[in-house]
Amino acid sequence: MMKKVYLDYAGTTPCDPLVYKAMEPYFFDKFGNASSIHSYGQEAKKGIEESRQIVASFLGAKPEEIIFTSGGTESNNLAIKGIAWALEKKGNHIITSAIEHHAISEPCKFLEKKGFKVTYVGVDKYGQVCPQDVKKAITDKTILISVMHANNEIGTIQPIGEIGKIAREKSIYFHTDAVQTVGHIPVDVNELNADLLSLSAHKFYGPKGVGALYVRKGTRIESFLHGGDQERGKRASTYNTPGIVGLGMALGLCQDKMEGEAKFQAALRDKLINGITQGIPETYLNGHPEKRLPNNANCSIRYIEGESIILNLDMLGIACSTGSACTSTSLEPSHVLLAIGRSHEIAHGSLRFTLGRWTKEEDIDYLLENLPKIVEKLRAMSPLYDKK
Ligand SMILES: *Cc1c(COP(=O)(O)O)cnc(C)c1O
Repeated sequence: MMKKVYLDYAGTTPCDPLVYKAMEPYFFDKFGNASSIHSYGQEAKKGIEESRQIVASFLGAKPEEIIFTSGGTESNNLAIKGIAWALEKKGNHIITSAIEHHAISEPCKFLEKKGFKVTYVGVDKYGQVCPQDVKKAITDKTILISVMHANNEIGTIQPIGEIGKIAREKSIYFHTDAVQTVGHIPVDVNELNADLLSLSAHKFYGPKGVGALYVRKGTRIESFLHGGDQERGKRASTYNTPGIVGLGMALGLCQDKMEGEAKFQAALRDKLINGITQGIPETYLNGHPEKRLPNNANCSIRYIEGESIILNLDMLGIACSTGSACTSTSLEPSHVLLAIGRSHEIAHGSLRFTLGRWTKEEDIDYLLENLPKIVEKLRAMSPLYDKK
């Protein structure tokens, strides 16, 4: 049987078997509608409230500050549009970064069509936002600042606490997309000075299609899903009980395992980065050398199309990605790589390897054994490559 090596954990993760086990009863015996007052309903509600407690405790928040959603995209949309609609009389200006996930940049572009103004703050060559640049962008019309905690493509971790502090001093709401960090590194809403924070279960060994938005008590936010009074009127629709229970179980497991996993993955990540940048000529690390996610290695390999490498690796059973999963069908190079100053040519030859709970050292060895051969083969065929 062919060896299978999955190195695309930032795209999605498999469910932990313990998460699946915890969810199972909620499809069958405990199938009740959590809004019902009979015992079926109360049993489902109990599962949901336990999960809410776990999420709140992970984030240093209160349970009533957690809204369950259908995932990271909905949480981000609710944060951006919910604040925009609630505060449109106060101001129409939003500040975000140039390297956000599309689930932030697209709602921002949508609001621009509706008359809002958006400032996209640039980043340095490592992908970091400078808090002073955010401060300079503030106007008396600014109602929201949203900067992601860690970037999904290059893994750079932002100085969120400092940016949040600036927002707080000016009494401007601050949101952070923490989909890449929750479950992987400590995330505390008070240390980050966040008023709103997005997370998604399928990025930390939970099921797909479920996430949460933290909303600090007292924050004015408008709902955009109108219907029943679930989630205190902030998010209508019958509760996805199995999903929510799975999210809680997954995050509880991460709480216990996170520290050890981050250490182990960071060591393998560094072996992988060094193996590529020292073992293959004309390769470059993308993102910050230290302030990066413990599981992310993103490298540019000159003279080669990222897609060609992916297909060659896939034939060997190795899965990784180029750019982010959402942009991998478009021909435009990643907006993140362009924002850190990579040329179109170099951006096109970029690969993202992301490690996870079941990554072994032999997986990295297998990759490092095969990647140089693939690169050599593809470069020999490349018209861009100077064959001296
Ligand atoms: C995956 C991801 C999202 C989208 O989350 P979904 O649950 O897939 O909708 C948003 N932001 C970041 C940074 C992500 O990595």
